[in-house]
Amino acid sequence: MPKNRDAARANLENLYRIFTVPEAPDSTLGAIDQAIAADVTGFLQTHIVAIERDLEAIEADFASAVIPEEPTYVSEYTEFVKENLVAHSVHTAAPGFVGHMTSAIPYFMLPLARLMTALNQNLVKVETSKAFTPMERQVLAMLHHLVYRRDPDFYPPWIHNSQHALGAFCSGGTIANVTALWVARNRLFAPSVDFDGIAQEGLFRALQHRGVDGIAVLVSERGHYSFGKAADLLGLGRDNLIKVQTDAHNRIDLRLLREEVRRLQDRNILPLALVGIAGTTETGNVDPLEALADFAAELGCHFHVDAAWGGPTLFSDRFRSLLSGIERADSVTIDAHKQLYVPMGAGMVVFKDPTALSAIEHHANYILRHGSKDLGSHTLEGSRPGMAMLVHAGLSIIGRKGYELLIDMGIERAKTFAAMIRQHPDFELTSEPELNILTYRYCPLKVQQALAAAPAERCAAINVLLDQVCMLLQKHQREAGKTFVSRTRLRIRHDEELTVLRVVLANPLTTNEILASILAEQCEIVQEPEIQALLQQIEEICTGITEK
Ligand SMILES: *Cc1c(COP(=O)(O)O)cnc(C)c1O
Repeated sequence: MPKNRDAARANLENLYRIFTVPEAPDSTLGAIDQAIAADVTGFLQTHIVAIERDLEAIEADFASAVIPEEPTYVSEYTEFVKENLVAHSVHTAAPGFVGHMTSAIPYFMLPLARLMTALNQNLVKVETSKAFTPMERQVLAMLHHLVYRRDPDFYPPWIHNSQHALGAFCSGGTIANVTALWVARNRLFAPSVDFDGIAQEGLFRALQHRGVDGIAVLVSERGHYSFGKAADLLGLGRDNLIKVQTDAHNRIDLRLLREEVRRLQDRNILPLALVGIAGTTETGNVDPLEALADFAAELGCHFHVDAAWGGPTLFSDRFRSLLSGIERADSVTIDAHKQLYVPMGAGMVVFKDPTALSAIEHHANYILRHGSKDLGSHTLEGSRPGMAMLVHAGLSIIGRKGYELLIDMGIERAKTFAAMIRQHPDFELTSEPELNILTYRYCPLKVQQALAAAPAERCAAINVLLDQVCMLLQKHQREAGKTFVSRTRLRIRHDEELTVLRVVLANPLTTNEILASILAEQCEIVQEPEIQALLQQIEEICTGITEK
């Protein structure tokens, strides 16, 4: 019976049905829908199978490039999705999945996301979004206020201003960072008496007009790869994205930064922007934002803060001061799909100067008319979904104090986990958590002691082997599917680049017991013969050192 409701034959009657008749509750899709509504955690737990299936084997299910000629039953398709897609997706909401920036999301996001999809608003213009436009403008103002703490009286002339927008809502931190540097670039080469501006005349003419040989963006080596894309896209060239080395705390080295700027000036290259990171993706550290703000002011260049990860720390009375100086930034990126606990696809950039976004303003005749309140006149993206509604929901339901609790808990948990690692004889903490991210590696105490005493080339030989241990350890743990940490390579001390395990503690359901079990599992994994062989080699090198 339910199959009658499916569009299994390409005729108009069936097509009308798929646009109008809902799935029967006893159909495959109906059942999934109900299961998710009733208990999403339980659904994910039972439907995502933990056993690793080779990506190659999965690829075989998605091998055809031909669009199916004949329609199929919705239920048949849903069966396929259940078995071949859902079952082999990643349980990012699991409390033991602490390797990446994706976490569990509050239950109310699901039905609201469904509502958002049903409404299918397009935020590019008021004509397709009506109340969604003022709502998104309010979200941008709230984030602006979170960052810049302007007096509430500051906002009324700006929130719903038909000429301006306080920021841009976008699909994520990447587009937010690109937008920030786009604005910076267009403001640096603004129209003047004999120049129509870079947006009109292009970078080559802009450089000629200004008499410079290039423009550059400076960020620490921990900067997110989105800045590389931005440098490429905005015409600077990736060579003009200057990656400044960090100090022992993964923060930009200010002395080296000054040297880099001097080097650029010697080559007649203009610094377009300094970027400070508030919560680096790999280690969660915060650059010295006050000092960067001072230096940007001295240079007269744009100061951008990438707070895609760490921005919500501003909710916390206890930890807000870690980001002090952020309020002096010309632009700030915050991702909502990270620590605002909104589903994937939501980021924002806000600008201190409420008129800054005019630098990228664009119009079209059929929409985005001059004087309309359309947000699309100030965004890189065109059509956009009503994701701001989910941010609005989080801010309203969880509130400042709710987010504060989540932030405080994550930072506390990272400190606890760091203490557990420090106390454990077989692990070495490779970056101290400042926010809620830390890195560590498997390195037995004896090896740690040998490393402290060994000459450089012996250290290097040991570290190469430890890197392999780390890589295998992470791979085995991921394949076992019980818990998950990620791995990265970081230049840790001097010029040593090490492979390390990375943990992000944002899921409120992650407990200290789970963290202890992650270490316990890792101690078991290193018993694998493949890893034992490496540890044996390391031991041999170490014995040589202690005997000397
Ligand atoms: C995640 C992240 C980004 C990129 O954001 P996307 O949402 O993945 O595009 C940029 N910067 C930092 C610091 C990040 O953590």
